[in-house]
Amino acid sequence: MTKYQLHIDGEWIDPASAEWLDSVDPYKGTQWARIPRGTKADVDRAVSAANRAMAEGPWATMSASARGKTMRAIADLIEKNAQRLAEIEVRDNGKLLAEMHGQLASISEVWYYYAGLADKIQGSSIPIEKSNSVAFTDREPIGVVAALTAWNSPLWFAAVKCAPALAAGCAVVVKPSEFASASTLEFAELTKEAGLPPGVFNVVTGLGHEAGTALVEHPNIAKITFTGSDITGARVYETAARTMKRVSLELGGKSPNIVFDDADLAKAATGVVSGIFGASGQMCSAGSRLLVHSSIKDEFTDKVLAIAKGIRLGDPMDPQTNVGPIATPPQYQKVLDYIDIAKADGARLLLGGKPASDPDLRGGQFVEPTIFADVTNDMRIAREEVFGPVLSIIEFDDEAHAVALGNDVAYGLVAGVWTENVGRALRMSKALRVGTVWVNTYRTYSYMVPFGGTKRSGLGREHGIEAVDEYLETKSVVLSTDDTAPANAFVMR
Ligand code: NAD
Repeated sequence: MTKYQLHIDGEWIDPASAEWLDSVDPYKGTQWARIPRGTKADVDRAVSAANRAMAEGPWATMSASARGKTMRAIADLIEKNAQRLAEIEVRDNGKLLAEMHGQLASISEVWYYYAGLADKIQGSSIPIEKSNSVAFTDREPIGVVAALTAWNSPLWFAAVKCAPALAAGCAVVVKPSEFASASTLEFAELTKEAGLPPGVFNVVTGLGHEAGTALVEHPNIAKITFTGSDITGARVYETAARTMKRVSLELGGKSPNIVFDDADLAKAATGVVSGIFGASGQMCSAGSRLLVHSSIKDEFTDKVLAIAKGIRLGDPMDPQTNVGPIATPPQYQKVLDYIDIAKADGARLLLGGKPASDPDLRGGQFVEPTIFADVTNDMRIAREEVFGPVLSIIEFDDEAHAVALGNDVAYGLVAGVWTENVGRALRMSKALRVGTVWVNTYRTYSYMVPFGGTKRSGLGREHGIEAVDEYLETKSVVLSTDDTAPANAFVMR
């Protein structure tokens, strides 16, 4: 069994607590690794190392081009180690190996992309209206960044947070989820091998209320970038405000997948199924509400059911598996509880609704793909994030009704719109209060396209060029070209 250490200041060290947490394989239900239980003392060490790296280490004086070159070396090493990293993450969170292969390819691309941006960060010259004055802006690294990540895609989150932060010239301390920390620790070794100076990339593992809180409270952290639940996110936001930290939050969703009667129904059915059952529904962007036009409700439901009934649950390492286990015991229980709540609230169960009965899957936390019909938007199953393989079907009568239902939740992360009418697609894209609209597609993520939420789904944007702005402060410089003192020293120029 692998026993990991913390990665601080370029070194591997034991946690001050001298305690470790178990990491459990959600497919087999067995412990496979031990993760350090980092606490405040470790966080203090990591934050000091990161501040030192930004103030005096080679990172502070390195040219932006050299920074980009080191980041490219990291991307090269991710490509080289992709299979190993993918397998570690599958063991930690039960994600499909096939999906991890695709994600790992994108993760190295993320690092190449932001490596290329490192030396293109620049301020501007301002043609100021004052005479005999020159003004310009600089874009400076915001300071040390704490990246707190969720268990469903730890390496992806580390990439989309840390690559733009490093491109901006920041140093980071990452706190991955206690349920899936191994891949981030393994990745830290690659940053070392790539020649990243000590202190620039630190990993402190541990519990949210210990290591996580210590980071959010720390006075020498300038910025928090967080991916997780809206409840924890709100707590992080509140705590961070006391020390006026900058905060970005990538939180949950209750996303609508909206199918009109003029859609390509076969294509839409595939999108709806992959939007809720892909990754066992453990996606912030899960299309957990199917909004379907009343005239095609029965026909479309049958199409979705036909595909969902063929879903093969199984070993996430097996390329034949469509859906793996639920990653953590609390999450498994939460999904089952929501199924009970939906039944009690009057939703009609069409498929699944229980743990998998196959004896081969007994060791793992499997929930059958579950579909509820006759859901109304006021039921808890339609309003609260389940983060599991549970689809709610809700009918709508016309476009305005679809918009009203789509927007009538606290969240606003993504929406899917299925229609062959271009005008309708554009009207819907404008009317839906979400960060991303996918038209005739779903789960089409790109690191080049900004991603983030409105309302309770979060603050700020990741991916794309503008993600770098989250790690920069603008400094304005105004200087006088006058050789003489002003005639009146007491009147503002
Ligand atoms: P979580 O909120 O429980 O934990 C997220 C991280 O915060 C973990 O590292 C955890 O240890 C830490 N943490 C917990 N309590 C803390 C505290 N008091 N102070 C500081 N840190 C603390 O979330 P989770 O269960 O790991 O992930 C599932 C959630 O993440 C879902 O709600 C999902 O929608 C969301 N998510 C969002 C996105 C997105 O991009 N919008 C992506 C994936 C997951």
